[in-house]
Amino acid sequence: MQQTRQKNTSAEMVIRRELHRRGLRYRVGYTVSSKPRRVADIVFTRQRLVVFVDGCFWHGCPLHGTWPKNNAEFWRNKIETNRQRDSDTNRRLTTLGWHVLRVWEHEPAAEAADRIERELKELKGEAAQCRGQSPDTEGASHVGSVGRDSGSRKSGGGPRTGPTG
Ligand SMILES: [Zn+2]
Repeated sequence: MQQTRQKNTSAEMVIRRELHRRGLRYRVGYTVSSKPRRVADIVFTRQRLVVFVDGCFWHGCPLHGTWPKNNAEFWRNKIETNRQRDSDTNRRLTTLGWHVLRVWEHEPAAEAADRIERELKELKGEAAQCRGQSPDTEGASHVGSVGRDSGSRKSGGGPRTGPTG
C-alpha cells in the first residue's frame, strides 16, 4: 500500500508562513471533530474558522485536476471519495459551529491569506454584533398591538385587546 502524504504540503507551509508574517495565530493539525475524526490544516479557534488547503490532484481541482488514464476507475473513485469526504466534513463542521474555508494548493499564498484575513475580520465583526444586540427580547409583551401573531390562524371574531391598555 502506498502511503499518500497530504500533511505539510509545501502549499500549506507557504500559506502558513504568510499568515504568520501577518501576525495571525492559528493551530495546526487541530482535531475539529472527533467522531468521525477530522483534523484541519489551519484552525483559528477563537473565531472558529477552519482552513483546509486542498491539493489540486487529490481533491479534483477544476483547473488542474487530472484524471489519469491508467487505472482510471481507481483514481476517479479515489478522488470522488475525497471530494465527498470534503463536503461531508464541511457539513459536519458547519453543524458544529465552525466556519470552513477551503483554499486550493494552486492559489497564491498572498491571495489565500487575503481571503483568510478577510474572513477573520468578518467573523470578528459578526461576533461583536452578536454580543451587542440580543435578538430575543424577553418578556416584551405587545399589549394593545392588534393583529395576527401567526399568520396561519385567523380568528373570525375580530381582534381582542388584552386586559391592560
Ligand atoms: Zn489547482
